[in-house]
Amino acid sequence: MATKWLKCILRKDNVFLWWVALNRLSTQLNPSRRGLDITDIGCTVCLLVSESSQHVLFGCDLTMELWCKCRIWVNIQMPTFTNWSESIDWYDECSANESSKNKLYSIVAV
Ligand SMILES: [Zn+2]
Repeated sequence: MATKWLKCILRKDNVFLWWVALNRLSTQLNPSRRGLDITDIGCTVCLLVSESSQHVLFGCDLTMELWCKCRIWVNIQMPTFTNWSESIDWYDECSANESSKNKLYSIVAV
């Protein structure tokens, strides 16, 4: 799967985003899906739902607050995303200048 690779962020952060795109983050849910016996797959922050990549990055209350602060910080009008693919599509089609877009992408990576 192709991914963005920004030179302005660390390699490990680019790799992290690539893993996000592949749904390979080490969440509570992913090892459970691979057959490992995980006793509690709930989100360790909100305890409300299973800890999937989508929830950790886009659905958890804490994450939603961070996204809100990022929007204010980079001063870009952006929708609320529900998954990584949606955010990348928006990023590609966003009319903001390249510097602001790269800043936002860097924030997400870090
Ligand atoms: Zn949560």
